[in-house]
Amino acid sequence: MFDCEVNVAKSCTELTQILIEPSARILAGGTDILPGMRKNSIGKPITLIDVSQLNELSYIREHEGQIDIGALTTHSKLITSPLLLQHAPALIDACASIGSTQTRNRGTLGGNLCNASPAADSVPPLLCLEAVVTLSSHDNQRQVPLSDFIIGPGRTCLKQGEYLDHITFAVPQKHTGTSFMKLGRRNGMSIAVVSTSVLLRLDQQGNIEYARVAFGSAAPTPICSHHAEAALTGKTPSAQLFSEAAQAMRTDINPIDDLRASREYRLHSAGVLLQRALQTAWHQAEMDLR
Ligand SMILES: Cc1cc2nc3c(=O)[nH]c(=O)nc-3n(C[C@H](O)[C@H](O)[C@H](O)COP(=O)(O)OP(=O)(O)OC[C@H]3O[C@@H](n4cnc5c(N)ncnc54)[C@H](O)[C@@H]3O)c2cc1C
Repeated sequence: MFDCEVNVAKSCTELTQILIEPSARILAGGTDILPGMRKNSIGKPITLIDVSQLNELSYIREHEGQIDIGALTTHSKLITSPLLLQHAPALIDACASIGSTQTRNRGTLGGNLCNASPAADSVPPLLCLEAVVTLSSHDNQRQVPLSDFIIGPGRTCLKQGEYLDHITFAVPQKHTGTSFMKLGRRNGMSIAVVSTSVLLRLDQQGNIEYARVAFGSAAPTPICSHHAEAALTGKTPSAQLFSEAAQAMRTDINPIDDLRASREYRLHSAGVLLQRALQTAWHQAEMDLR
């Protein structure tokens, strides 16, 4: 039995009014917060705010070259979105790898970000897309780059009274390829031992004009590898170049030993995954070039 009060928010205005309460926590899909309460890893007392009736926070929209995703959009809704399939297939692959169908039917993108796990699968592709989060409170709205939103394991820059409203990223330019790869201890229902996402944009000659590389489960927060990005930018794609990027990436990540894998295994696997992810993104971008 949980020792908590549950309030149902019927509108975003009502949500911000209840969120002022210091003990208030949002209950979105509940797939992180409820197991956390069961394990007593969440401080008490707590007032849960059930936001499941806020349909206005569940959407995927394109306007003026940007894609907005409401915080309460479930992973199941994301992975069946034709818009994301066209513009952000790596995000689809990442969300499709989260838990089981039941978990994806309940779990939301906002919950995955706000839970701030180093292993949160949606974060690496969103970092590659340079996503920005919009945070709302009763009297303010502000935008924060996703790279600044998660500040430590389980910690975000959300202030008392704020909630994550939506996530935005620019529609990738032409000749762009993206990919997401995850290594778990089993093929399904598995938290990442390490994951990586890549975004490559090619110029007309087929050289890499722009590169983004991000990792999950490789540092206290999901993280970009700016050394790998620098190693790739302006170069001609090849297996040799991708191997150099995998070497450069080791400067940026700092994985730990834990129950799922050792630091050394994670370092090695991150390099292997990155090379495969780069091949996939490259081929995707090349198809776009033809
Ligand atoms: C069996 C199982 C398997 C899983 N496998 C994976 C996996 O492979 N990969 C992975 O990344 N995750 C996995 N998860 C974790 C989880 O499903 C995801 O992180 C999910 O996206 C969380 O969303 P939620 O809506 O359920 O969040 P909730 O549990 O409702 O909330 C999580 C946290 O975020 C806060 N929050 C939620 N929404 C907002 C908002 N809009 N504004 C402010 N704060 C908010 C809550 O207060 C809470 O602190 C798994 C979970 C389970 C139970």
